[in-house]
Amino acid sequence: KTQGRNQTCFFGEVSDKSGGKRELYIQNKLVEAVSGRRIQAWFQPIVNADDGECLVAEVLARWHDADFGWVSPATFIPIAESTGMINELGHQIWLQALPALVAWRERGRNLRLAINISKRQLFSPRVTEQLVGELALAGLAPSDIVLEITESIALLDVANASERLHGLHRIGFHIAIDDFGTGYSALSQLHEMPVSELKIDISFVRRLHEPAGQSMAQAIIHLAKALAMTTVAEGVEDEVTASKLRSMGVDRLQGDHFAKPMPRGEFENWLFGERH
Ligand code: C2E
Ligand code: CA
Ligand code: CA
Ligand code: CA
Repeated sequence: KTQGRNQTCFFGEVSDKSGGKRELYIQNKLVEAVSGRRIQAWFQPIVNADDGECLVAEVLARWHDADFGWVSPATFIPIAESTGMINELGHQIWLQALPALVAWRERGRNLRLAINISKRQLFSPRVTEQLVGELALAGLAPSDIVLEITESIALLDVANASERLHGLHRIGFHIAIDDFGTGYSALSQLHEMPVSELKIDISFVRRLHEPAGQSMAQAIIHLAKALAMTTVAEGVEDEVTASKLRSMGVDRLQGDHFAKPMPRGEFENWLFGERH
């Protein structure tokens, strides 16, 4: 079974010598992969906490290199971001994900797509215009899309980010704050933002059995409720955690307990399979 995330990243072996050389090597390989259109869009369900119904598919980039094997996005997304390749990479991901969403809708499943947006993507007007254009071509609307933006990006440069987010929200996109609780955001700024969803960071979900982890998760859930935002808990790996989160009032759940990220075909088997 192919598991992008669980596969080790082999770069360590390639390059004990110089970090700079190694980075350059990965960078060159990534340029080839992006220009060769070999970055794949995989999908992970986000389900309704109450009944397990799949409401959203989060699109996650996957790269398989002939030499390295599966490379984690935690490795290649920052490189793509710093070199500017992220814009082309993101475009390729949408070109795979949007037709998939159209196909699922034609088969009667009214999902949304959650798309991760990095800093450079958020601040490139051309990039979001391109996404709007692709949506129109596919017969979709911005309201079919949840843009996931990390707390650190959304709330670091508040003045600029706020303007961009309001612009995106005005044309219909849903905005989620990813990895919520890990940044340094002033809570006073959160309610000024056009945000409809908070994704509780995986680190709190992992530490739910500890009082501190549980308090953090509960505080985020209360905050979201007070601001009329939807909560999503990511990284849910077992039923104990899932039921605890349900009882704490989380709206949506995501994680290996429900399904791992999967290529389109496998995701469709899961989505249209008998279990759901
Ligand atoms: P993220 O947006 O926070 O994505 C959630 C990560 O949690 C994913 O890692 C997912 O595979 C992983 N995950 C899901 N369920 C579980 C679970 O039950 N247990 C554990 N331990 N992990 C789980 P992934 O796919 O490695 O992606 C890492 C990060 O790379 C993402 O974090 C996102 O920030 C970024 N990324 C991925 N694809 C894209 C993309 O297309 N564009 C951009 N800009 N960023 C992307
Ligand atoms: Ca995300
Ligand atoms: Ca996250
Ligand atoms: Ca993350």
